[in-house]
Amino acid sequence: MRWLSIRALIASSLAMSATGVGVSAAPEQHAKALEDVLSPGAKVYYPNSTEFTTLTTRWSALAEPKVNVAVVPAVEDDVVKTIRYANKAKLPVLAFNGAHAAITTLARMQGGIEIYMGQLSSVTIAEDQKTVTVGGGTLTKAVTDALWNAGKQTVTGTCECVSVLGPALGGGHGWLQGHYGLAADQFVSMNVVLADGTLHKIDASSDLWWAMKGAGQNFGIVTSVTSKIYDIEQYDWAIETLIFSGDQVEAIYQAANDHLSTVPVNIINWSYWLNIPGIDPDKPVILFYIIQEGAKSVDPAITKPFHDLNPISIDAESGDYRDLARWTQIALESAPCQKSGLANPRFPVYVKRYNVPAQKLAYAAFAAEVSGDSPFSSSIFMFEAYPVQGVQAVDSNSAAYAFRGDSILTAPLITYTPAGDELDQQAAQLGNKLRDIVHQGTGNEELHVYVNYAFGNESPQNWYGNEQWRQHRLKALKKKYDPKGRFSFFAPVA
Ligand SMILES: Cc1cc2nc3c(=O)[nH]c(=O)nc-3n(C[C@H](O)[C@H](O)[C@H](O)COP(=O)(O)OP(=O)(O)OC[C@H]3O[C@@H](n4cnc5c(N)ncnc54)[C@H](O)[C@@H]3O)c2cc1C
Repeated sequence: MRWLSIRALIASSLAMSATGVGVSAAPEQHAKALEDVLSPGAKVYYPNSTEFTTLTTRWSALAEPKVNVAVVPAVEDDVVKTIRYANKAKLPVLAFNGAHAAITTLARMQGGIEIYMGQLSSVTIAEDQKTVTVGGGTLTKAVTDALWNAGKQTVTGTCECVSVLGPALGGGHGWLQGHYGLAADQFVSMNVVLADGTLHKIDASSDLWWAMKGAGQNFGIVTSVTSKIYDIEQYDWAIETLIFSGDQVEAIYQAANDHLSTVPVNIINWSYWLNIPGIDPDKPVILFYIIQEGAKSVDPAITKPFHDLNPISIDAESGDYRDLARWTQIALESAPCQKSGLANPRFPVYVKRYNVPAQKLAYAAFAAEVSGDSPFSSSIFMFEAYPVQGVQAVDSNSAAYAFRGDSILTAPLITYTPAGDELDQQAAQLGNKLRDIVHQGTGNEELHVYVNYAFGNESPQNWYGNEQWRQHRLKALKKKYDPKGRFSFFAPVA
């Protein structure tokens, strides 16, 4: 008995000697120990404070990571020190940026350190005006606005409250991808803190470079990235928002195949299926955006086939690039930017073009499950058709992002108020069923999933490509740079 308690004491003091604080120490003790090593501007919070609650609240309240201590680094060395501390204390660690990742694999982090990136926010345009260096915690809107004011632009995700790096590390779809490729294709160099707590500046000469462009969340925490920027060539943008009855689903997607699948680089088409009871109390409507760059109104030749289908309403607006997020309801003040306690799993699948009968089946299944007083009545089904010319101009082998051959990103987003496991399972069943319908319509056995929208039940092949060389290369890099799987909460490569 006495020997047992001595062994326990030895084990606990060994753990103490690593960090000064025991492995099983309370969050307050870890917070205090971290405060002692971090820069004066860094902040550390533990549960039961308003700040902790704010910093740990995520966009999707399903399968969330559990955080015990939230660190807000003020300088990149704070990220280094936090990772070293977490390694010694044997605590998991996860970067939080816009906190919009909804993948359920994040729930594998149970009790660890959050690194909230928000203070590492900066946008610095190089003297030669060819690149911008962005702090690892910068949100998309900050970059868009700073570049716009300098007559510049680059590819970022479209949503203002999502970080620059969140989307970009998984590829990054954006309004300008038709010209320049994905957000990750713009990377020139980056500073990244690796799993062993060392800081590196890497670029195309590093073997890790390939992996950071599509599977980057698996390999480290990026404290800053330098990306290519471009002169703004077109200041004008225009949108038409058309609303159709769900009864017209076949005609609409047939018209999209016929008239929008080979459109020029300056046309973007998104559509959402959603309930708007004021317009149709019985079933979801189809909200259909046609966006044009370099125009004060969308070219009537593009919109005519859709006007001919007699939409319920047509709204036209014009402005500039900065208006796009508001028009499409993903601006800072829009609903998707609020963290309101809802579960928001998505079930994505890429397609090359619409399979019209599959669209009809999917609509019927969606309408049946989200209408009336369904707990899923706030769900939407998203269809995002960005121009792909710039994405396909980039060598497919140059990045871990694997799906340059696909054109349209589709995903049901099943939104609901969490109410226990049974409802979670119903949501997952519905999301998977809808995805299966669209996937079967592709005629492709392989399931191509945009990792940044993934639900979490997919495989590494679904996220990072079926080619064996891709899987081997990712696994080998993981073994080299993160052998203990410290960064394996977001869509782990292995
Ligand atoms: C409303 C909305 C709109 C969206 N629009 C787009 C879009 O237009 N284009 C697009 O491609 N995607 C889009 N997405 C998907 C988006 O790419 C993912 O949700 C992404 O994970 C969000 O990044 P975040 O920083 O907000 O989330 P977080 O959850 O904070 O981060 C996402 C993941 O990346 C890791 N991470 C974050 N920052 C870093 C860093 N600096 N270094 C290393 N790892 C880091 C985190 O640990 C986490 O695992 C959208 C999502 C939503 C909810």
